[in-house]
Amino acid sequence: MPLKRLIILFCLAVSALPAQAEGFITRLLNKPVPGGVAVVTLPEQSEAPRAQYQNQPLLVIREDGQRWIAIAGIPLAVKPGTEHIETEGGQKIAFKVSDRKYPEQHIKLKNQQHVTPDPEHLKRINRELDEQINAYKTFSARQPSNLLFDRPVDGRLSSAFGLRRFFNGEERNPHSGLDFAASTGTSIKAPAAGQVILTGDYFFNGKTVFVDHGQGLISMFCHLSAIDVQVGDEVGRGAHVGKVGATGRATGPHLHWNVSLNNTRVDPSIFIGAFMP
Ligand SMILES: [Zn+2]
Repeated sequence: MPLKRLIILFCLAVSALPAQAEGFITRLLNKPVPGGVAVVTLPEQSEAPRAQYQNQPLLVIREDGQRWIAIAGIPLAVKPGTEHIETEGGQKIAFKVSDRKYPEQHIKLKNQQHVTPDPEHLKRINRELDEQINAYKTFSARQPSNLLFDRPVDGRLSSAFGLRRFFNGEERNPHSGLDFAASTGTSIKAPAAGQVILTGDYFFNGKTVFVDHGQGLISMFCHLSAIDVQVGDEVGRGAHVGKVGATGRATGPHLHWNVSLNNTRVDPSIFIGAFMP
């Protein structure tokens, strides 16, 4: 058999193989628990398919040049069981959500306004909340530069994502991000490339920076002592964005880092390969 024909036959055989073993991104990110991430394979087509989950557009990438995958953030409030994403054509694709237990954390705050704010503070808090929720809804066309994120600071992981939080004995929202122990002034670096879409000095979050990594994947850094970027700035992977501090509702200097996908706050430890079931 001529070599050329052998090569053609070989190529046909390879392309006819069933779906390949899951790739690096799927192994890294597929942690389908409340507050986790589901990686869902989409139907094969030439152009990137579009998909949504709970009416929010999803991050879609080509994995290993072999298949389209949608990467969906799962809200903490979702119950274990079967969930669905929906393709542009209206096809529903199921994925399973497993259980995950989140422990409690009890925190003492000196400032009672940070536990039960006055009505005047509430007005400010709600305005700031709207501003930040709008930032999380950003969906830009750019492809994230890397899905295995770099750690934004050197420092031990202190408070985990999802902790059920009690401030001075009163239950408040669960911990929406991951805390790193680091001293005031430590440089915070972008875990992936992106654009600065919001900065502010907020009642709870203190000095805050939002970076859009593309397709609804957004980082938020808060309690900073200094913000060293401006809205509209393009930041490269590893670029300095600000400095660690203790502004807003913080008991001491640390970095609080949120990662959001499809307007859903998920466990950032997944993106740095530090997820523990
Ligand atoms: Zn935190």
